Amino acid sequence: MDLANLSAHELADQLKSGKVSSVEATSACLQRLEKTAGLGAYLHVDANGAKKQAAEADARRAKKQSAGPLDGVPIALKDIFLTEGLPTTCASRILEGFVAPYDGTAVRKLKEAGTVLLGKLNMDEFAMGSSNEHSGYLPAKNPWDATRVPGGSSGGSAVAVAAGSCFATLGTDTGGSIRQPAALTGIVGLKPTYGRVSRYGVIAFASSLDQVGPMTKDVTDCANMLQAIAGHDPRDSTSSTEKVPSYTETLEKGVQGLKVGVPKEYFIDGMDPEVRASVDAALESYKKLGATLVDVSLPHTDYGIAVYYLVATAEASSNLARFDGVRYGKRVDPGKGLLDMYLETRGKGFGPEVKRRIMLGTYALSAGYYDAYYVKAQKVRTLVAQDFKEAFAKCDVIVTPTTPTPAFKLGENTGDPIKMYLADVFTVAVNLAGLPGLSLPCGFSKSGLPIGMQVLGRPFDEATILRTARAFEREHDFSARRAIS
Ligand code: GLN
Repeated sequence: MDLANLSAHELADQLKSGKVSSVEATSACLQRLEKTAGLGAYLHVDANGAKKQAAEADARRAKKQSAGPLDGVPIALKDIFLTEGLPTTCASRILEGFVAPYDGTAVRKLKEAGTVLLGKLNMDEFAMGSSNEHSGYLPAKNPWDATRVPGGSSGGSAVAVAAGSCFATLGTDTGGSIRQPAALTGIVGLKPTYGRVSRYGVIAFASSLDQVGPMTKDVTDCANMLQAIAGHDPRDSTSSTEKVPSYTETLEKGVQGLKVGVPKEYFIDGMDPEVRASVDAALESYKKLGATLVDVSLPHTDYGIAVYYLVATAEASSNLARFDGVRYGKRVDPGKGLLDMYLETRGKGFGPEVKRRIMLGTYALSAGYYDAYYVKAQKVRTLVAQDFKEAFAKCDVIVTPTTPTPAFKLGENTGDPIKMYLADVFTVAVNLAGLPGLSLPCGFSKSGLPIGMQVLGRPFDEATILRTARAFEREHDFSARRAIS
């Protein structure tokens, strides 16, 4: 079997037993990357840096100083993470040529865990999108069917993991950007509780919603990655001081006696029949494994998209004010004074979707509309959070489809922003409520496209989510299938 098709923990076992080296694993990824270059997963490859880090990992192992399950494992990162000495563009032309002066906290922790960094991954510009077609550089393509999107905004991350050009990665999730691409490419993606992972050194989109999380080939890898990055960070005041449990200790505990909530609002008429059938079958599986299904209701689900696109754009309009041609990256200066420099830089540097969001957000925050849009959205956001609180009084986890359909065609939704926004109907509410949610593969369509289901949990209860996901994964081979052989 090609090394590039191993999961990270399978690779770790082979590294440990001395069967393979990190240098070999790194070359396997680089070869796979070459073979799948047409999928557009990477924006920047640091082959030499990676080979050097791999050799260092092998040397540590030879001296019996290996750091743990991720030591020597080749990874790559969404280009939203600041990485010292490597380009960080957020897939925007406005950050072309920008090299970060320091590592974000999650990046630093993964380096301390011994991972090898292969490069930076494609995404929708400033993480705004659901298909990776809003990248300022190139679209990414789904490895299961290259005429289809991989989802977004962490599209490059999903492609790299699903195609085997890295063993694991991190994404960011503001409204679904980890879970939706994970679902569309047949991998596992976890958005942790708001505050579980530091956002320091992550370019901000919507600061009250953004969260960093793992995207991996299976649930065990997801637990190992979360273990490495979770925890309080004095550099991010919104990061939580809640204790980080051992995620691996409870992973194999199963779901016997667990209450699985099924919200009727997420199983609607007109949803894709194959998605519906796969998630229904997964629910049956949970019953067989000893869980009890409980009907729950999340009555404000219908308002999720509207609230999300008000709150997220409002925060984005403020966060993106810093890209003005003065401090970072690109500057376009026609030599007619400061204002023209700002206008030209932002006009040429930002793509159309980013401009649309800045305009929507600025409008929602402007005097006269602030109460009618922004304040109202915040109030409904509280109701959405309240729905989950009531539901979790009756169950331990909630299971839903991750997306309404499998991967759509490239170009299918680009002409209609609202249609594109609807790709997030099942994911945005979790961000509004600050809760953790994981997507894992639960089936394939007749045409061979992956289908994902979501497991949601109480605040800071990632351990129960992971064990619920693992219980299903153990009984099925969906996460073991590979898009590229
Ligand atoms: N697809 C959503 C959007 O376009 C979510 C993005 C994200 O989670 N970063 O805003």
